[in-house]
Amino acid sequence: MNEAATTDTTVEAKVYDAVVVGGGAAGLSGALALSRARRSVLVIDSRRPRNAPSDGVHVYLGREGTPPSELMADGREEIRRYGAEVRTGEVVSAERDGSGFLVALADGTAVRARRLLVTTGLVDGLPQVPGVAELWGSDVLHCPYCHGWEVRDQRIGVLSTGPLAVHQALLWRQWSDDVTLFLHTGPEPDDEQYEQLAARGIAVVDGTVHELVRADGRLAGVRLDSGRVFDIAALAVATRMNARAEWLTPLGLELAEQVVQGTVVGRHIPADPLGKTAVPGVWAAGNVVEVSGQVMVAAAAGLRAGAAVNADLIAEDTRAAVAERRAAAEPGPAPVGAEPELAPVGAASAPPRGSYAPFSARDEREVCERVGSAGRHRL
Ligand SMILES: Cc1cc2nc3c(=O)[nH]c(=O)nc-3n(C[C@H](O)[C@H](O)[C@H](O)COP(=O)(O)OP(=O)(O)OC[C@H]3O[C@@H](n4cnc5c(N)ncnc54)[C@H](O)[C@@H]3O)c2cc1C
Repeated sequence: MNEAATTDTTVEAKVYDAVVVGGGAAGLSGALALSRARRSVLVIDSRRPRNAPSDGVHVYLGREGTPPSELMADGREEIRRYGAEVRTGEVVSAERDGSGFLVALADGTAVRARRLLVTTGLVDGLPQVPGVAELWGSDVLHCPYCHGWEVRDQRIGVLSTGPLAVHQALLWRQWSDDVTLFLHTGPEPDDEQYEQLAARGIAVVDGTVHELVRADGRLAGVRLDSGRVFDIAALAVATRMNARAEWLTPLGLELAEQVVQGTVVGRHIPADPLGKTAVPGVWAAGNVVEVSGQVMVAAAAGLRAGAAVNADLIAEDTRAAVAERRAAAEPGPAPVGAEPELAPVGAASAPPRGSYAPFSARDEREVCERVGSAGRHRL
């Protein structure tokens, strides 16, 4: 945030233990872990989850087929029960604020956080073919585990735009024995791939796809540049998956290319298995880190990252408590002209009021033995 922006920004006084940016499966799961750990949590969400165009969330155990909006509404309700706050809004920047962060929203407000959990998901860059955007998420699909069952045994096309298309066609063949690979802008398969496609009964069509043909709002086929039309009921495409995280660049968080089988499929935030990023205090989880993860995978990553953020806060709280305890034990300089404090009768060796020795396991054990506590603090 630059100086001019700060002048116009209303900064709220409260410092949250964690601000979670993004309220999809990853963000809400992280917030659930953090709020149940009695952390003050604010989730800021612009309400544009990746699977919004879809009717139902699949491969999600226990909630199979639930509309995405319903699953997220239930999640928001659950985290509020533990005291988490949820705000609809768009985060536009984050900057260092002491050991924490100042997070600015598009509405001109800003909030303070000790830690940031980034779960902003990704944007699917769709192939530039007329009709693809309109049918995205209904008849134009990317993930057979999410949609394969719904289009099983139907006529499925695969639009090749890169070297992974043959793999994609072989994958979709599991759900239908009527699969056609449209070579479009993708590379020509090699001899081994042609043999595999032929062995699995997958037709290969040369030529560029000009547009998708629609009937009653549904996909009816693809029209090639040559004018020839092929009837299909579903089209599988590969998207360019780009993490929504540009607003983190000023903090020094660099995105990296996501590579699958030697092909760049998008950009993501590099993070360790617990979601820790290269920027101290910033964790990330879900599609923003793992672009190919499904909802349940994103939820699991959010939980792991939430727990890791809590562990990091515990370490910080403990360091602060130890420092405070040590500072209290230091004998301070006697005020000028003050009379030395007299120890009460019978307590000649008692330390001055307000001071005590640093923690010692041996002393603690001796005290426990003297007072005869059954557990003796297990020291
Ligand atoms: C069409 C389609 C259908 C799918 N179907 C399935 C399926 O059936 N089953 C399945 O398991 N997976 C499915 N997926 C994949 C699924 O969408 C993702 O796995 C999942 O959404 C990842 O969750 P997430 O929390 O990482 O991100 P998201 O769900 O995308 O949530 C990110 C949230 O962050 C918010 N956000 C982004 N930037 C900001 C910002 N700057 N400030 C504030 N908020 C911000 C967004 O608005 C959004 O609400 C599907 C994907 C697509 C494209």
